[in-house]
Amino acid sequence: MMDLLDALFISKENFPKGPEAVAARLGVEVCFKPLAGCAGWCIQNNNIIRITINNTMPSVRQRFTLAHELAHLLLGSKSEVRSDAEYFGSNHSEEKAADRVAAEMLLPKEEIQRIAGAPPVDAATIRKLAKKANVSPVMVACRITELAQPLGLVNAAVVSFKGDKIAWIWSKALTVPSEKARTLLRRTREASGGTFHLSSGAGETIFASAIDSPIQTCLFIQVLPVSTDNAQGRGQILIELGKWLFEGNASFRGQVNGCLSSFKATAGNEDIDNALRLFNEKYIGRWTGATGDRMRDPRGQKYLRLRLEEWTRRGR
Ligand SMILES: [Zn+2]
Repeated sequence: MMDLLDALFISKENFPKGPEAVAARLGVEVCFKPLAGCAGWCIQNNNIIRITINNTMPSVRQRFTLAHELAHLLLGSKSEVRSDAEYFGSNHSEEKAADRVAAEMLLPKEEIQRIAGAPPVDAATIRKLAKKANVSPVMVACRITELAQPLGLVNAAVVSFKGDKIAWIWSKALTVPSEKARTLLRRTREASGGTFHLSSGAGETIFASAIDSPIQTCLFIQVLPVSTDNAQGRGQILIELGKWLFEGNASFRGQVNGCLSSFKATAGNEDIDNALRLFNEKYIGRWTGATGDRMRDPRGQKYLRLRLEEWTRRGR
């Protein structure tokens, strides 16, 4: 069996026909025919591998089925007959892994980085990428979510709705409570152009847009970092976060300032992520109870990050 990295390399070289090229290289027989209530399957028999795909489904869906079945072969995991017309919806870890590899074959990281530009990635760019790669816009949003940090986003999530209910959420680290997701979706519907911005408490901007397909409605959430280009905005954010963190407790503020000063030389040799991690390891245990909770809260962490960025290697 082909190595996973080789398969991803072949996909990248043959974009937008990555999965087709991998199938050819593997000698997989691909058949297209109408199937009742199922997207496709894979059968292995005496060195013959055959993937059957339901050709009554949209072409982007058929390509996803091919990539998903190939991913099972590459990962050595068991293929199953999928009865639903959706993807990215499974809670099963082997299915999630296969979906992830399938998406990588269909949309190589380099193509996304080349076309996406500076975040947030708007709806027109998502449609353009989807058309070029011959995949659904939802798939593009899921891939951007996977690549959030390399693309310059703090975080991202795709939330799929069935009617008023959430069918699935695709995100590495962002938690989206159902009520919040419903509110965001409603606001994208009301906003002109189907997108809107919202400031979060930690100074970050949330960019929400609706992505519709014939089979589902999706909400795409991108969390943008605090703009460090804007020194005035940054200073204002630090003041706000400081007010929240210290609540006028001067001795607490003095302790934090003391620790930050002692840490200045160390921070100068680190990038911001390492500096924050090392600072936490070294000092955060000093605060317990309510002050400890505030230091560990995302807003406390954002305050520390902004302070440390003054001194770190790639801070600004
Ligand atoms: Zn599967």
